[in-house]
Formats: sequence, structure tokens, C-alpha cells
Amino acid sequence: MNHNENAITLTYGTQILKMVQDLMEKTGALDALRRDDTVVIKPNLVASRKDWVGVDTDPRVVEALVKMLKDRGISRITVGDGAGMGNSATKAFSLCGYTEMAKRYGLELIDFEKDRFTKLEVPLAGPFRKLEIARTALECDFLISIPLMKAHFQTLMTCSLKNMKGIMSRSQKTSFHSRGLHKSIVQLATVISPDLILVDGIHGNLTSETGRDPVAIGMMMAGKRPVEIDSLVADILGYAPRDIKHIAYAEDAGLGTTNLEKISVQRLNRPAKEKRFAPPTHYTKRFECRIEAEGACCTCMGNLIFALERLNEQGLLSQDQHFMVGQKAGISSGISGTTIAVGQCAAKRIHADIQINDCPPTARTILRHVVADRRKPS
Ligand code: SF4
Repeated sequence: MNHNENAITLTYGTQILKMVQDLMEKTGALDALRRDDTVVIKPNLVASRKDWVGVDTDPRVVEALVKMLKDRGISRITVGDGAGMGNSATKAFSLCGYTEMAKRYGLELIDFEKDRFTKLEVPLAGPFRKLEIARTALECDFLISIPLMKAHFQTLMTCSLKNMKGIMSRSQKTSFHSRGLHKSIVQLATVISPDLILVDGIHGNLTSETGRDPVAIGMMMAGKRPVEIDSLVADILGYAPRDIKHIAYAEDAGLGTTNLEKISVQRLNRPAKEKRFAPPTHYTKRFECRIEAEGACCTCMGNLIFALERLNEQGLLSQDQHFMVGQKAGISSGISGTTIAVGQCAAKRIHADIQINDCPPTARTILRHVVADRRKPS
């Protein structure tokens, strides 16, 4: 980037093509690319659903970038990601409109979970000694990450650092949840880092990474430094950057700074009113029931939260229900009332009153089990 390698460039609006063009031209982020370079674009396609707005990267952002790359004569462009548990990037490509886009522009699409992997030594101490990285992402000349600005049930928020989790194998991603998500994310950042980060802040989500209540934010930003970008995003979403554990660990590991006064931000325009958000009430305090979610995957947790919202609307939640989800789920001593094991790994570990033995269970399945239990004659 020609203006300042460490700066973050920010623009507001809703005209996606213009916003991406302005960001790329001002930063010069694509200037060093040669025509025969291989470029991999890694969006965030966590869910394969029709209602993807605020959950998956908007394909119009990717398309705007692809147009700019094509204008520069770059033809070897791949778009790749690996979706969350119970989802598939291949399906997400189709449902979000990436498949059609790929045909129009001659792009290659790759589900990273089906790629070949290279095991890399991790230089930073933590849960893993080696990490399996998709070769397509590892071996390209220029890697572009396009995350969204979203809440996350485990890490509070997710953006560029956590987006890179999608370039690993399914088993590796799942083990991040059981072995300590925050430190694992930072370990991954020491193994591979994108050449360019373009944050899709057109829509985000303030309650969950897979929520069905998107929020229009109307902003995009570009930069190279994930810790600084995520710190700025945390601030916009209403958090102190060091409240987000993986951002704090990344700073402690020397990967960047969370000090907003030291982060150089170049604004290309100003919105009529700058949007700032407040963090949502934590899921453990939103519902009457008790929830233990140690080691849960995003999809399992997202489906549980969606089911709890519906149960809450129907007045079917109470303090004597104990939902347990995740790879470390266990019944604490002294629990009374109804225990509910949500998901295959919880159901295997504990013998609960209600066993929901799917991986991951859908919100509908969770609902069905709990409603049947509440309505059975006592
Ligand atoms: S059942 Fe377990 S492994 Fe499967 S999605 Fe849920 S938490 Fe993850």
C-alpha cells in the first residue's frame, strides 16, 4: 500500500463498486500485482443459507474487487472458503450468488475443506504445534481476506483474525473450539496472514455470527494489519479492543497494537451520522434457562440461540432447564431440573433428560425436543 503500510483506510456508503474502487485506488493495494499472479479471495461464508445477509460476505463486494483485478489483466483468480459445521461452502457459493459470478468472470471456486493441506509448524506457543492449511490459500501469490463485522457468541466479535479459520481442514477447525479458540486464532495468525484485508461492513450482525437479524452498517475498510483492523472494528461494535481475548493475545504476541491512538485511520468520506453500536446482552443473561457452552461450534450455538429465542417467545423457557452444548459439556454437580444435551458431542459425554444427538442439530430439532418435553403430561 503506497500511502502508509500500517494505515487503515475507511469509507462510508452503500455504493459498493465505488467504495471498493475508492479504497483500492487510494491505498494502491493492488498496484504491485503482476498479470500472471495467482490471487485467492477468502470471503466469510460461514453459513449456506438463503438469508445470508449480515452472515456471509456480500458477493457484490467480491465482484467489485474481481472487476478491478480483471481490469489489471489478472485472470488467475480463485474464491475459496470452508463453511461452519453443518454447512458447506459449495452450497453457500450457490445460495449467495458466487456460482453465477464465477461463470461471468471465469473464476475458480474452491471449498477449502476439499483442498489438499500442508501442515505448518506454529512459531507461537499454544494449543497447537502444527496447523493444517489449505494449499490453494498457502501457495497463491496474493491472498485477500474479506471478513464481515459481526458479533460472535464465544469471542464476542469476529472480523479479520478469525476469518482465517476458514482456510483449514474441518477437523482442525473443530479442534479450535475444544482446545481453546482465542489462542488458536492467534497461533493461526502467526502461520498465515493475508496480503490485503477488505472488511465488508455493508451489513453485519450485532448478536451472533450466524444470526438472522442483519444490521446495515454502511462502511468498508482496507488495510494489511489484522490486529489493528479488528481493534477498530471492536471499538465500532462497542467493545474495548482488549476485551476481545484473541485480539489481546495477538497484541501480547507482538502481532500489532490495540491502542486506537496509535492506529492511523484515513477516512475517504464522512457519513451524515457516524454509527456506533453497543454490545448485546450476553447470551447467558438473555434467557431464563441456564446454558453451558464450553467448546461449542458456531453452528451448534447459533442454532441453539435461534431455538431459545423461539422458545422464549412461546413462554417455554424457565430456570429449571439446563442446556449443555459443545465438546466439553458436562453436568455440574448440584444441578436439578431438566438437563438437555444439545448436539452429538454433548449427548455422548453426558446422560441428560433430553438427548439431541445430531451434529449439528438444527434449530427446528432443538425446538421440537424441548416443546415436546414441556407439553408432556406431568
Ligand atoms: S455437535 Fe459438537 S462437534 Fe457437532 S457442531 Fe455441535 S458442538 Fe460441534
